[in-house]
Amino acid sequence: MTHEWPDFVFRDTDLTPRNTKPLALELANEVREDSAQPFNEALELATVLRQGSLALRVNNIDAVKDDTVGMLFALPDRDRFDIVVDPRTPKRVAPMLCGSDTDKKIYRQRRKRHITCHEIGHTFSYIRAQGQEPQATYYRPPHNDYSYSSEQQRIAYKTRDGLVEKFCEEFARQLLVPKESLRRMNNPERVAKKFNVSLALAALSISGRPMVIISSQDPSRWFYVAP
Ligand SMILES: [Zn+2]
Repeated sequence: MTHEWPDFVFRDTDLTPRNTKPLALELANEVREDSAQPFNEALELATVLRQGSLALRVNNIDAVKDDTVGMLFALPDRDRFDIVVDPRTPKRVAPMLCGSDTDKKIYRQRRKRHITCHEIGHTFSYIRAQGQEPQATYYRPPHNDYSYSSEQQRIAYKTRDGLVEKFCEEFARQLLVPKESLRRMNNPERVAKKFNVSLALAALSISGRPMVIISSQDPSRWFYVAP
């Protein structure tokens, strides 16, 4: 790679429940530093994509039907990735939105940033070398279909995938909303606006907990909101 980019690769066996978050935060900060982006400003995604030799496409990948919202493709013969993002909200989450997220266009744009950063996290499980297709450090079956594995293997895969996804989520959140810059900010609307992220991601960044919306008509109805 010709640009500054963290020289970091993780294998699935490197991640433990304890080290996953600190590793992800450190890496996200390194990406900010390498692309010369101040910690207290909204991330310039285009710069990060350029630095990492990544191309972004927005496409319909069935986000509404199942919950695949982003995909990562290693390109043959070159040290590059394509990231494909479907910023529509999967059916099982966020039947209601609030605040600035009720503007669909803004919400999708912010969601696109989040999904893209999550997929960037996955690129760090590939070994990269100039002029060569990035090589995955561990095996994942196509479409995450583990039905051919033994029961024991399936459990191991599930645990591993859980840690990898946690890694990518922590990475994305820290890259978009660096914890260090939140010190005195605790208003989700303001954080969302400042860092150009969804209200749900802003709330998650502030409190560390996913945002829940409770229906005013029927308080027994509540929903998690997708960041
Ligand atoms: Zn993922």
